[in-house]
Amino acid sequence: MTMFRAGHFRRAIILAVLLSGWQVGAAIAAVPTPAPVHASAQDPVQMLAQADKLKTADHAEFLRLLGELDQRRAELSSGQQWHLRYLDAWQLAFEGRYDVAGPALHDIVTHSGEPTLQVRALATLVNILGFSRHYEEAFTQLSALMDLMQTAKDPEARYQALGEGAQFLAAAGQYDLASSYAQRILDDPELRDHACQGMAFKLRVLFRAGKVRGTDPEYDRGIDTCIKANQALYANSLRNDQAKYAIDQGRPKDAIALLQAHYDEFVSYHYRVLMNAVNVTLAQAYWQLGDATAARKYAGEAVAEAIKDKYSDTLGPAYQVLYQVEEREGNTRAALDLHKLYMDADKGYLTDVSARAIAYQTVRQQLLANKVQVDSLNKQNEILQLQRKLDHKDMETSRLYIALLLTVVASIALWLLRIKRSQMRFRRLATRDSLTGIHSRQHFVDETELALRAAAKATRTSCLILLDLDHFKDVNDTHGHVIGDLVLKRAVAACQHHLHRRDIFGRLGGEEFALYLPDCSASQARERAERIRQAIAATPLWGETRSVVITSSFGVASTDRSGYELRQLMIDADNSLYKAKREGRNRVIYGEHAEVIVPTTVPAAEPANDHPIEGIAGLPG
Ligand code: GH3
Ligand code: MG
Ligand code: MG
Repeated sequence: MTMFRAGHFRRAIILAVLLSGWQVGAAIAAVPTPAPVHASAQDPVQMLAQADKLKTADHAEFLRLLGELDQRRAELSSGQQWHLRYLDAWQLAFEGRYDVAGPALHDIVTHSGEPTLQVRALATLVNILGFSRHYEEAFTQLSALMDLMQTAKDPEARYQALGEGAQFLAAAGQYDLASSYAQRILDDPELRDHACQGMAFKLRVLFRAGKVRGTDPEYDRGIDTCIKANQALYANSLRNDQAKYAIDQGRPKDAIALLQAHYDEFVSYHYRVLMNAVNVTLAQAYWQLGDATAARKYAGEAVAEAIKDKYSDTLGPAYQVLYQVEEREGNTRAALDLHKLYMDADKGYLTDVSARAIAYQTVRQQLLANKVQVDSLNKQNEILQLQRKLDHKDMETSRLYIALLLTVVASIALWLLRIKRSQMRFRRLATRDSLTGIHSRQHFVDETELALRAAAKATRTSCLILLDLDHFKDVNDTHGHVIGDLVLKRAVAACQHHLHRRDIFGRLGGEEFALYLPDCSASQARERAERIRQAIAATPLWGETRSVVITSSFGVASTDRSGYELRQLMIDADNSLYKAKREGRNRVIYGEHAEVIVPTTVPAAEPANDHPIEGIAGLPG
C-alpha cells in the first residue's frame, strides 16, 4: 500500500493547480495541444490514438471520431474496446456527468486488465472525485493510483497519474511534496517533453508556499523553456504570478505592463480560470494605482465570467476590488452589498480549503493505521509458525528467538499506540480553532445544534450572538499579521472573561465569532453582548509603534423570534450584525427594527465618514 510520503507521490501538477488550485475540471480540461492535426485515419488503432490526442485540442473532431468508432465497435479487439470505453467515460466526465462517468471508470480500473488504461481511468476518477468535492474518497483512490502507477510503462499515463497526485497534494497545502513531484518530472528522462510543465508546476507551488520571488531568474528560465516548447499558456500563467508579486511589492505599473503586453494571448486561450485570474490581478493592480475605472472594469469581467460556485478563488478578490471602488466613490449602499458578496465568497473559499486539508490528514492517518495493523498481524503470524517449527529444536535458542520477535511485536504495538494517539490529537485539532483555541466553526455548529434541540424540547429561550471585529483588515495592513493574530487572541480572551459555564463560543472564520447563550432572554443577551463589546474595546494591545484599539459589532437573535433552527438564528443574527456595521459599527443590534444599543464608552471613536482606516485608534508609542 502506498502512503502519502515523499518519494512516492512525486511529479506533475496539472494546469488547474498551476493556475488556481481546484477550480476546473482539471486533468479533463488539461492542456491545449498546439496545432491539431485532422487525420481521416481508417485503422481503428490510429483512430483511437488520434481521438485521444484531440480530446481537448479539437473537441468536435474528437466527438466525430468517437461516434465513428462506436459504429465500428464490433470490429475492435477487446483491448481496443476498453480503450474506446475509456474515451467514452472521459467524455462523460468532461460533460460533468460524474454519476455515470464514475462507475464506467471504476469498471475499467477493475476489469480491463490493461495497466495503462487502468492508470488513466483511475487518474480521471480521482480528478472527478476531487472536482465534485468528495475529498476523502479522492485521497483514498489517489493512494491506490500511486500503487497502480508503478505497473504502467507508458510515460504519459505516469505523467497523468503523478499530475493528479501533485494536484491533490498542492490543493491540500502539501507544498513540499507537490514541488518534489514537479522535480521528478524534471529528473525523469522519459518526461523530457514535459520540462516546461515541470518547471511551471514547481515555480507555481513554490510561489504559493512563498518560497520564490517573482523577480527570481528561475522565472526567466521557466518562461523561456515554455516558449521554446510552444507552451505559451504556461509561460503566461507564470507571468500572472510575476504580476501578483509586483503588486505585493507595490509596483502596480510593472504588473499592468507585463499582463497588458500579453493580454490578447490570454484571451485567445478561452481558458476561463486563467482569464479570471488575470482579470483579478489587473483589477488589483489598477486599484493600487488609483485607477478606479479600470479596476472596476477588470473586476467586473472576472465576476461575470467566474465559475459560480461558492468555492471560487477569484470571485472573492474580484468582489473585494468592486466594493472598495464603490466605497471610495461614496456609493455606500452598493459598497455594502458588494462587501457582503465578498465576505460570502471569501468564506466559501476558505471553508473548501480547510475541507481539503482535513480530508488529506484523515486519509493519511487511516492509511498509516491500516498499514501498521496489517504489519502487526503478519508478524504475529510469523511468530506462531516459527514457534511450531522450533518446538523440536533446542529450547534455549528458540526461546531467545521468540523473545526477540516478541520485542518486535511490542514495538509495533507501541507504534500503533502512537499512531492512534496522533489520530486522537488530529480529531482534537479538527474541533478546535488553532489560533485561539476555541471551538472551530464546524464544532460550534454541532454543539449548538445539540443544545438547541434540548432547548426546543424544554421550550426555553436561548440566544445567538454574532460578533465581527471592525476594520480588522486595517490592523493587519498597519501592524502586520503577527499583531493581527495577537489582537484576535486578545479579543477572544476578553470574550471568554464574560462566558457562563454552558455558553458555546466558536470562531466562524477570520475575525468573526459566534456565541450561543442557553436559557437567556433577548434583553439579557443584549446586555451581555454590550458588556463584551465594552470589554473588547477596553483591551488595547501595544503594536510596534503605537497601541492598537479594536472595536467590534454585534448581531443578536433569540429563539423567541427566530425559532429553534440554528440556520434561521444565524440568518437573523447576521442581518442584525450587518445592520450594526451599516449604522457605524461598534454597537449591538437585536432584530431588524433599530433596537440598537448605542455605545456609551467608546475608546475607538467611529467617525461619521465610515472610512476604514479610522476604525483603529492609533496613539503615538
Ligand atoms: P468590517 O469591520 O467592515 O468587517 O471590516 P474588516 O476589515 O474587519 O473586514 P474584512 O472582512 O474586510 O477583513 C477581514 C480581515 O481579517 C481580512 C483578513 O486578512 C483578516 N484575517 C482573517 N483571518 C485572519 C487571521 O487568522 N489572522 C490575521 N492576522 N488576520 C486575519
Ligand atoms: Mg470585520
Ligand atoms: Mg468579517
